[in-house]
Formats: sequence, structure tokens, C-alpha cells
Amino acid sequence: MHPKLELPINRFKVAGLPDHRIENAPAPGEVAAMPERIPLLKARLRVDTGDRVKIGTPLYEDKKNTDIVFASPAGGRVMDIRYGPRRVIREIIIQTEKAEEHEDFGAPPGTELSRMTRSRLVQMLLNAGMWPFIRDIVYRGVADPAETPAGIWVAMDNLDPFHPPPDIYLSTPADLRQFKTGLQALGIFCEHTYVSKSAKSAELDAEIEKRVTHRVRGDFPAEDPGVVHFHNKSTARENRGWFIRGQDVVLLGEFLETGRFPTRRTVAVSGADIESRYVSTRIGAPLHTLVSGFIEPDKYRWVTGGLFRGSSGSIESYLGLYETALFLITESGKRELFGFMRPGANKPTCSRAFLSIFNPRPLPVDADMHGSKRACVNCGNCTRVCPVDILPQFTYKCIRAGEIEEALSHGLLDCVECGLCAYVCPSKIELCHTFQETKHAYFRERI
Ligand code: SF4
Ligand code: SF4
Repeated sequence: MHPKLELPINRFKVAGLPDHRIENAPAPGEVAAMPERIPLLKARLRVDTGDRVKIGTPLYEDKKNTDIVFASPAGGRVMDIRYGPRRVIREIIIQTEKAEEHEDFGAPPGTELSRMTRSRLVQMLLNAGMWPFIRDIVYRGVADPAETPAGIWVAMDNLDPFHPPPDIYLSTPADLRQFKTGLQALGIFCEHTYVSKSAKSAELDAEIEKRVTHRVRGDFPAEDPGVVHFHNKSTARENRGWFIRGQDVVLLGEFLETGRFPTRRTVAVSGADIESRYVSTRIGAPLHTLVSGFIEPDKYRWVTGGLFRGSSGSIESYLGLYETALFLITESGKRELFGFMRPGANKPTCSRAFLSIFNPRPLPVDADMHGSKRACVNCGNCTRVCPVDILPQFTYKCIRAGEIEEALSHGLLDCVECGLCAYVCPSKIELCHTFQETKHAYFRERI
């Protein structure tokens, strides 16, 4: 195992890093579960409009494995169920009650956790809707509880601009205690629990620092569990692994202490020209409750889950199960005339054609295309930034030619869907999206 990893992508300095403070968001009158945002999931409803639910009541299940259920993040009444194209369940909206009720799943006494068998723990997490926090490294969907992976990676940081760092989501003694309880539980699943932390993150509690197995240098996505796994695996058995985000380990610990489905979330709310900060809220919160002060909603693209690999929404949207970031990107709709002829001192890019390559300051990003789509010009930008050495332009050409076996031999399944290749591509080729779709199609064919 290599304890350190440094990638040549330190030049993405994006403006909008939140201030180091946490504010409480107002309590929302409604929250939503968003099955559409769970990778590879075919959801089947377990509730109907008008049903009363408690926090922790199963709202929907995975059609492929009905043991995997997704819990309600609120107590109240199911107000609406919204569908997307082909009747995909997009949002299940719950009107919250003043005194929300919880399902009680029964917490094991502290001493019992150390003696708990793997099968009992798995069953407990499945019943309570806690299992979906554990995810598969290759396909990034919910882990298969029937598998025993070689190891589970705890990713303490998420450097996709911007997510709460560990010293923010572990800011209280209760958070630290629950994180340790969560780590203890993970040790029951797999032979190896690896904990990776960015070298840039602040020092934590000495006991947690001792549990860190991999300290990662470099910017996004050097800290991604798929990237760290890729650079450390040495046998074919290690190809499959699981991961969980650090903040979700705290939720796991809270569940094991209380026997209740936890709903709290710390979210980074950022953007170049808004008041960037960390907000304490809950899973499924409406996005409009996270921003403070007056903003013009249509001026922005509302991106949840990170700047590079997040999902686009609007002010009417909600936080997905895994999402701990909201980024507001300015959307001017203007076209920059002769942009390629300008010096570009403030253009966030990795191209050496612009002066910004010498500008060390964080730069504002916008949602404009800055040019139209065109054929690959073999510039090699995508290869330079890919953290898992896939040669994205060749893999893309294989997929377009229907040569999926060849794309797999290029390492398609190692793609961590970070989105950097598409971001740096001057021809605006949807590389990451194509890789993600092809991986998903391959996964569906296998089962
Ligand atoms: S191919 Fe693109 S999306 Fe996949 S890991 Fe490489 S840079 Fe990221
Ligand atoms: S970045 Fe785009 S244009 Fe450049 S080699 Fe890759 S796919 Fe081709």
C-alpha cells in the first residue's frame, strides 16, 4: 500500500470556499427523498400519497434486491410523488409535522456492538434504511450486502468544491464519539477498514488520527475513495471494494447509539458571489432553506453534490441522500466573442494557452460553454488530469465505436466519474457522462 498520493491537478483553485463557521438552517416545512439521485437504483414505492410516515419508515426499495430499503428522512404525511421521464420516481415529498415521530429500531448496548455478528449488523442496517450509506467503489451505487469485499474505505474528505471538511462535521464531542462507534461497526463488515484523510485537513482528535491509514496529498479527486483504492490495490480480489463518506460514518454511529434513523446533515453552501458558509440542516432539505439573504434564483445553476460531479437542480429542488454541498454557479447565457484571443487572466482552466495558469488566486467559475462542441483535437488535457490513467480520449473512441471490451481493457471500470476530463476538454466532449452511462449499461447486463 502506498500511504501517499500526489496528482498533478493542483491548479483548480475555485473561488467560493465557505467561511469556517456553521449556521443553523431554518426548520423546513417539507423534505424530500430523491430516488433518482441514487446511482443504478430501480426504485419501487412502499408508500402512497396521503400516507403518514415516521422518520425511518421505508419509503421505497431497490427492485433488484428488496431487502435494501430507503428510509423516510421526516415524520409527517406524503404530500406528493413526482415522476420523471419513463415513470422514474424523482421526488417523494413529505410534509413535516411539528412533533415528528421516529421508528424505533432498538440500539444495541455499547458492549454488545463488539460481540455483534456480521449478519446481525447487516440485517439491522438493512431494516433501518442505513445500508444505502455503504457504497460500491466501482459502480458507486449501494453495496451488495451479499458480498464480502476485500476492504472498506472511509473517505474523510471530499475535495470536490466545496464539502464540509472533517473538523466541521466532527466539531462536537458527540460527533467524535459517534464517528468512533461507526468505525467500530465497519470493522465488523470487512477484514480491512481503511481511513483516508487529506493532508490539507486540520488535525483531529488523537484517537481518530491514529486510525488514519492513508494521508492523501493533492486536490480533487486525489482523496476520492476510488482513486485511493486504485493506487493501492495489488491483487484481483482487491478490485472490488466498498466506501462510505466520513459524515455518513457519524450517522452510522448515531444510529447505533439511538436506534433511530439519523437525519442531520452539515452542508457547504458556496458560490463566487454569495455568502459561502457551512449550514446545519437535514437530509432532503429544500435548497431554498440553505441560502441566506436575497439572491436572484434564475441567475444561478443550482448544483448539489459538488462542482465537478454534482447534479443540476433549481431553487425548487432538495438535497439528495448523499449530498453535502450546494454550489451556485453563475449562468449569464452570454457568449464570449473571440475568447480564444483574450489573455484569460481570470479564466479557470488547465490550458497553458491562458494567462490564468500563472494566477495563483481562486477564480470564479460560470456555467457558460465558452465555445461550441467539436471533434477531439488530441490535445491530451483529459489524459493529463485523469487520476486513474485511463486515456479518456481513446476509451471514449472505443465506446463510440461499440468496442466495449476494448474500453474495459483501457480501464473503464476504474473511472471514478470525477468529471475532470470533461471539464478540461476544449472540444466540450461529454467524456465522463459517456463513461458513467457505459458502466451502468455494463452493470445491468451482468445481473
Ligand atoms: S476518465 Fe474522466 S471521469 Fe473518469 S476518472 Fe478519468 S478524469 Fe475522471
Ligand atoms: S481533452 Fe477533449 S479534445 Fe483533448 S484529447 Fe481529450 S477528448 Fe480530445
